[in-house]
Amino acid sequence: MNYLNNNTCFCGNQKNYEDCCEPLLLGDKQAETPEQLMRSRYTAYVQKNAKYVYQTYASEKQAENPVNEIKEFATSCRFVSLSVIETNSDENKGVVEFKATYFYQNLYCVLHERSQFIKEQHQWRYLDGIIFPVADIKVGRNDDCPCGSAKKYKKCHSA
Ligand SMILES: [Zn+2]
Ligand SMILES: [Zn+2]
Repeated sequence: MNYLNNNTCFCGNQKNYEDCCEPLLLGDKQAETPEQLMRSRYTAYVQKNAKYVYQTYASEKQAENPVNEIKEFATSCRFVSLSVIETNSDENKGVVEFKATYFYQNLYCVLHERSQFIKEQHQWRYLDGIIFPVADIKVGRNDDCPCGSAKKYKKCHSA
């Protein structure tokens, strides 16, 4: 496993992976909030754990999001970061607005989404979301990497 540093989970939380997303991905623990589920789904994308992403969709959405398509997307992207902008929830539904950044081929992409979560059999599930369009940035090999590392793209996130 690669860590940015010892105290940061893949989802960007200032916690060790073992104390953050790992128990959810292992099925040892259920997400207590939509934000926890959302973070664990992001981590699952980073780890290309398509099965977890699939299983945490609301049941009515699973048919249109087959595991192989999730896997294909996760495999074609190099994920960079996640930031949660806003979240709120009540007993049975909730919202998380976030930005996830990733590289796809030589494009730097920002997924800015406001996701809806619902509870099914007492477990949080991702239902759907509204996507705010963000233009992709084309990155050249000698450009500074848009991830903010201050390295050239070719020495950083280049494919
Ligand atoms: Zn995490
Ligand atoms: Zn980079």
